[in-house]
Amino acid sequence: MSTARKPITPKPPRTREKVLVLLQEQCKQCELCVAFCPKNVLCLDKSKYNRKGYHPVTTCDLDACVNCGFCEMICPDMAIFLADREEAENAYKKGAMQEGTLIPEYMGKGNVEEDAE
Ligand code: SF4
Ligand code: SF4
Repeated sequence: MSTARKPITPKPPRTREKVLVLLQEQCKQCELCVAFCPKNVLCLDKSKYNRKGYHPVTTCDLDACVNCGFCEMICPDMAIFLADREEAENAYKKGAMQEGTLIPEYMGKGNVEEDAE
C-alpha cells in the first residue's frame, strides 16, 4: 500500500446562483425561517427594531447558505426570498429597493454576530 498522500486540490470559491433578500420591515420575528434553515444561516438582529417593533431576521453565516429555498417557503410574510443574482445586483446598484431591504451579499452583512438577549 502506498503511503504517499494525495495532493489536496483547493475547491474554487462557491458562487451561489441566487442571493438572499430580506425585507426586514415585513419581518415579524416569528423565527420560523431561523428554525427551518438547515445550515443555520439565519438569526435575528437583536441590535435593531423594525417599525412593527420586532427584531428582524438577518444572516449570521451567509457563506453556509445552499440556496435550498426553505426560508422562502416557510415565511408567512414573504419577508425572505431568493432572487436572481443579476436582478438583485442591478436593483442594489440603482438603489431601487424598498425601505428595509437587506441583501447581505452586497451589503457586507453576511455574518452578523448574534447578540445575547
Ligand atoms: S436558502 Fe436554505 S440555506 Fe439559505 S438561508 Fe434559506 S433556508 Fe437557509
Ligand atoms: S423572515 Fe419571515 S419566517 Fe423569518 S422571522 Fe421574519 S417573518 Fe418569520
